[in-house]
Amino acid sequence: MDNFTVEATELTRLYGGREAVSNVSFNLSKGEVLGFLGPNGAGKSTTMKMLTGNLAPSNGSVKICGIDMIDNPKEAKALIGYLPEMRPLYKELTVDEYLDVAARLHRVSPKNIKKAIEVAKERCGLGHMSKRLIENLSNGYQQRVGIAQAIIHNPMVIILDEPTVGLDPIQIRDIRALIRELGQEHSVIISTHILPEVEMVCDRVQIIDKGKLVFNGSIDVLKRQRIGNKLLIGLRNPPQADALLKVAGVTEAEVLPSGLVRVRFADDADPAESIVQAAVANQWGLYQIAPDQTSLEDVFVQLTYQDQSIPHQPTGQ
Ligand code: ADP
Repeated sequence: MDNFTVEATELTRLYGGREAVSNVSFNLSKGEVLGFLGPNGAGKSTTMKMLTGNLAPSNGSVKICGIDMIDNPKEAKALIGYLPEMRPLYKELTVDEYLDVAARLHRVSPKNIKKAIEVAKERCGLGHMSKRLIENLSNGYQQRVGIAQAIIHNPMVIILDEPTVGLDPIQIRDIRALIRELGQEHSVIISTHILPEVEMVCDRVQIIDKGKLVFNGSIDVLKRQRIGNKLLIGLRNPPQADALLKVAGVTEAEVLPSGLVRVRFADDADPAESIVQAAVANQWGLYQIAPDQTSLEDVFVQLTYQDQSIPHQPTGQ
């Protein structure tokens, strides 16, 4: 069969008759970092709770490395490390004491616990914090401890709910670097409402809105959505719009308040060169010509605030 680490099939969760998550399906492979992106209340946490076996789906199934979460919850959960939105820390313990408890909870065999704690601390940059009480650590270091407990049993799948919320920029940078590193050997799912975070950290992105997946594809596919058939042109002596429409492939020309001209062109056309030639021949005073890209934020807004979804991309490889 396939080698998917996570298979979510038609996951649905009802709260009081309302669908908080509706028919969400996707697969994940080893070595992938998947970003779960969506506005607050979109259904990210609810989906993560179902993936980790902390919440029963109203419908649908979850398999972790082929093991069904409902039929064999113990075995499936043993393959997952989870950091919920509310960190499960015992703040009155030191880092070492807490990771020892976490290792036992995750059923690391007693003879391997010491090594497991060392490895988790090393990976999370906590080596020098061993004897510190967790309550005295900064927010960023507490988050590292939260991630350390999630990876202490070297799980196949790591699920982190909003891992950078509330951190300062330097802490955010460090945690993102850590997530990327973890993604090399595990499958990682992070939820976030921060678009640049997904761009920086993830290989794949799923956008969830009102409980439904509205985009599922590689980050490159998402980026490509913003490159439309548009050029922005700066002309010192702009002609009437008709003159631009005579250039082969140009379908629309619009003068913007900034004085720049936005030109749209047909799918199979690339009129940039012809526009440059026309500008030179007619002395339009061309000083700028560049693709006019929609910002990724605007693509996100289009996906989540309009009922117009991009066709579903096939999941997995
Ligand atoms: P996100 O993580 O994307 O912010 P959530 O998964 O927390 O979104 O919530 C999705 C929707 O489900 C929201 O409308 C939220 O109010 C609702 N919801 C979440 N948990 C519960 C609950 N225990 N009871 C009722 N409604 C809930």
